[in-house]
Amino acid sequence: MVIVMKPEATEEQLKNVLSKIEELGYKPHVIYGATRNVIGAVGDERGKFVLQSLEVLDGVEAVIPILKPYKLASREIKKEKTVINVSNVSIGGNDIVVIAGPCAVENEEQIINTALAVKKAGADILRGGAYKPRTSPYTFQGLGEEGLRYLKEAGEAFGLITVTEVVDQHDAEFVAAHADVLQIGARNMQNYALLTAVGRLDVPVLLKRGPSATIDEWLLAAEYVLHNGNQNVILCERGVHPVDRTYTRYTLDISAVPVIKSISHLPVIIDPSHAAGNRTYVPALSYAAVAAGADGLLVEVHPDPAHALCDGPQALSFDAFSKMMRRISRIKSCADDLFKG
Ligand code: PEP
Ligand code: MN
Repeated sequence: MVIVMKPEATEEQLKNVLSKIEELGYKPHVIYGATRNVIGAVGDERGKFVLQSLEVLDGVEAVIPILKPYKLASREIKKEKTVINVSNVSIGGNDIVVIAGPCAVENEEQIINTALAVKKAGADILRGGAYKPRTSPYTFQGLGEEGLRYLKEAGEAFGLITVTEVVDQHDAEFVAAHADVLQIGARNMQNYALLTAVGRLDVPVLLKRGPSATIDEWLLAAEYVLHNGNQNVILCERGVHPVDRTYTRYTLDISAVPVIKSISHLPVIIDPSHAAGNRTYVPALSYAAVAAGADGLLVEVHPDPAHALCDGPQALSFDAFSKMMRRISRIKSCADDLFKG
């Protein structure tokens, strides 16, 4: 349920409503707005109509059911888009945020060189996996703690914030101490213990869509993070299971961008690299994402893609990335025009 407070409601009236919600056995989440505050009351769906009784309280304007299965992630509860500020980067604002770097941190030199190149090309955030969720147990699994240290060092050296994947709920706090944004990978989108663990932290979460997940399942996964207290979730579409794997690894669901924009307030970015699985197609998918209104991109870039230990075929070289970045800024100015009216 959404409890809409009157614009002139006092702090005391708000507090009173919050305690009544708790008395009824629901968890209140306040969304502070420019003109009025609203409260999301979430909990057992079956008894939600008892919340209707709050309508008589002072300061309450209306009590409205949230029709979507996800609540805190929905536009019904929060009309304004969520902008996540990390250091000097705003995700979900007016700029395209570009996250770039190798699939995996392989050694110190590799990540330092990549950080320098992507920074020069205009990227905002450095990526690099230290814990890799590989399909086969016999492939490179990541450098673990050593990889986290190199990533942090490279980010600090070039003034880039960092994102890295966490695969184990018990490591969430430790990984969060080394990176600015935590990635939940596609394979873990429905790992509810992991989602709960990152939901309890105060660090933004980049939540990839599982390749077989519906949009509602993806938003319900985001809901786990939000419900546990962490309001900073970035959704990342990275391709869904394809009809045809001959030319691409997955199929980029570009429609996820306008759909998420209309039903959720959370920022949505596109990962063209895992979707394509082939560097040839990465620029075109990136341009499409920007034109569709995505808030950013997550792109794999490697100093020597042919010898990458992980996801080499889809990694862009430094030159290809830099060329793509110049074109993205041109697409962005056209896209701004498209979305004006
Ligand atoms: C990655 O970002 O390197 C990764 C493993 O992505 P995904 O979870 O989308 O496969
Ligand atoms: Mn990868």
